[in-house]
Amino acid sequence: MDEVPNNKLIDGRPSARRLLEHAKSNVDRLREEHGVTAALATVLVGDDPASAAYVRMKRRRCEDVGMKSLLIELPRGTTTEELVAEIDKLARDDSVHGILLQHPVPAPIDRRAAFEAIPMKKDVDGVTSATLGRVVLGMPSFVPCTPAGIMRLLSDYKVEIDGAHAVVVGRSPILGRPMASLLINQHATVTLCHSRTRNLPAIVRHADILIAAVGKARFIQGDWIAPGAVVIDAGYNEGNVGDVDFEAALPHVRLITPVPGGVGPMTIATLIDQTTIAAAQEKGSGVV
Ligand code: NAP
Repeated sequence: MDEVPNNKLIDGRPSARRLLEHAKSNVDRLREEHGVTAALATVLVGDDPASAAYVRMKRRRCEDVGMKSLLIELPRGTTTEELVAEIDKLARDDSVHGILLQHPVPAPIDRRAAFEAIPMKKDVDGVTSATLGRVVLGMPSFVPCTPAGIMRLLSDYKVEIDGAHAVVVGRSPILGRPMASLLINQHATVTLCHSRTRNLPAIVRHADILIAAVGKARFIQGDWIAPGAVVIDAGYNEGNVGDVDFEAALPHVRLITPVPGGVGPMTIATLIDQTTIAAAQEKGSGVV
């Protein structure tokens, strides 16, 4: 990616580093002032190699900031009831401050039922309906990590949201929907697109800010992008490619996130940071 002009790139790594430094200072203060080690429990069901790799990466980041990381591995074939029972145990465990259920979980587990077993105060991944409701209403809460990370990137790069037309492609509960709400709460005009949207390219052409959260490699074409648009590619597909055709989009954009190195590092850093905040809230500590 050497030939990419630096002034067009939204680099997620320095922003993520800053967030992890913030998390580390929270961890240190909690330990010094309360003798508490912030802890994230991760539940991994089944043997999907990609999920296992994500979990390893998240656990490594936990250790980097001095946080405790617990891993609960459950075999494929675990029932919804068994999974909910494991999450209930973590919900009752005072030494656990955040709970992450790595998804996707294998069928036929009812993922929603499993998510809903996470108490809101430990929902550091922002997956429960209670958290999503608060995000929609703009109330204080944890925020789904990828949209939260994207908002921070937009802020770090001083992208004006107020009054802008933002187009979000994808309406999943962890990404597209909360993304649209966060943008609306900051006064963007938002169009939320999905697989039934008609004439998607024409809608994307009106975006000042485009958020791609589709899960299809290089799906968004370069000539769909309006001149001067800010493009955030949340996609992460096989072969390390995003949802936007990066090379084709580049001549049109004002700013764009690369894949990898854009949104991805922010997602993990947000998860870690929110866990330290959960631990601080539990202790009534002033750290934020
Ligand atoms: P998801 O649950 O599969 O949702 C995909 C969304 O895209 C759905 O709303 C779907 O519409 C929509 N869609 C599918 N085909 C479409 C089409 N032809 N035109 C318009 N919309 C279409 O995926 P997700 O969990 O939100 O993830 C989206 C992407 O983000 C994936 O690449 C994932 O790997 C990536 N991701 C990255 C991170 C990170 O840390 N970087 C974190 C989470 C996810 P319907 O609702 O109509 O089906």
